[in-house]
Amino acid sequence: KLYNEVQDLKGNIRVYCRIRPFLPGQSQKQTTIEYIGENGELVVTNPLKPGKDSHRLFKFNKVFAPAATQEEVFLDTQPLIRSVLDGYNVCIFAYGQTGSGKTYTMSGPGVSAVEDWGVNYRALNDLFHISQRRKSSITYEIGVQMVEIYNEQVRDLLCNESTQKRLGIWNTAQPNGLAVPDASMHTVQSTSDVLELMNIGLMNRAVGATALNERSSRSHSVLTVHVRGTDLETNVVLRGCLHLIDLAGSERVDRSEATGDRLREAQHINKSLSALGDVIFALAQKNSHVPYRNSKLTQVLQGSLGGQAKTIMFVQLNPDVESYSETVSTLKFAERVS
Ligand code: ADP
Ligand code: MG
Repeated sequence: KLYNEVQDLKGNIRVYCRIRPFLPGQSQKQTTIEYIGENGELVVTNPLKPGKDSHRLFKFNKVFAPAATQEEVFLDTQPLIRSVLDGYNVCIFAYGQTGSGKTYTMSGPGVSAVEDWGVNYRALNDLFHISQRRKSSITYEIGVQMVEIYNEQVRDLLCNESTQKRLGIWNTAQPNGLAVPDASMHTVQSTSDVLELMNIGLMNRAVGATALNERSSRSHSVLTVHVRGTDLETNVVLRGCLHLIDLAGSERVDRSEATGDRLREAQHINKSLSALGDVIFALAQKNSHVPYRNSKLTQVLQGSLGGQAKTIMFVQLNPDVESYSETVSTLKFAERVS
């Protein structure tokens, strides 16, 4: 039943590194990227503090150089995404400091040009096309939820009422498998349905930006695609679920400078990103205890992290030398989970 490509995937956790290019006007800046190998090797260096110790080697399943296109990045995620149609659960994360390209990878810089589309749009588009081409006795239904986790509270991003209701998380042993059952579910039938929903989601995510600037960089957004395939001949139902997660910025906040709301946000982000790291680490080590309960993020994803589920972590880097210490701390996070 499985797609051959899925069988080729070695572990259940893959870690990809993506380096964003310098932005126009930044070209005179110095880079920390010294070497990108064919087999996922990456060497970073600090040109401001040259010396033997300033070179560090990391190893990924793959490294995408700054020139990599959205399509190239998607091609390496597509097999996993398609396994959702076979009933697998899949999580795709973007991790990195603010400005490192997380939203670019997941959503893209905009949606007007198809070549700019990020993983989210391409994934949904691909699932539509494949589900239509597959065995005619199976009908697929695709439903979408999108929530934001901010300060350890879960909020619906696709709900038109502006009520900022806090949503509860269910134990994923529920028969319908929904972790956040009260978040609105939207059936999608075409790519244009998706574009419309994602625009609402992205707009709602930005709403908080007036009160707290750049809120989107301090919240996790989780787009969940539920696929239900029913074989009309045998009545067998297969459910798969794809979570596409644009994480909050991983930058450390200077405790001496942050106060009040800013400090609270930073503490919540810190807690949830380290809880995520702990869960993935425990899974990679095949530990019998996996600490899902330590954050809302890991609770929401509990049913889709571990077991047969598959994970891709995009580790996003800003090549600027000024980001060197954040880059190293991002790479250390990645090293721990790979
Ligand atoms: P983050 O979501 O991590 O804060 P963004 O995705 O918003 O970062 O990226 C920061 C800036 O860099 C944006 O202007 C974005 O368009 C640009 N950018 C990020 N990645 C790329 C890329 N691979 N190619 C071109 N521009 C990029
Ligand atoms: Mg972003």
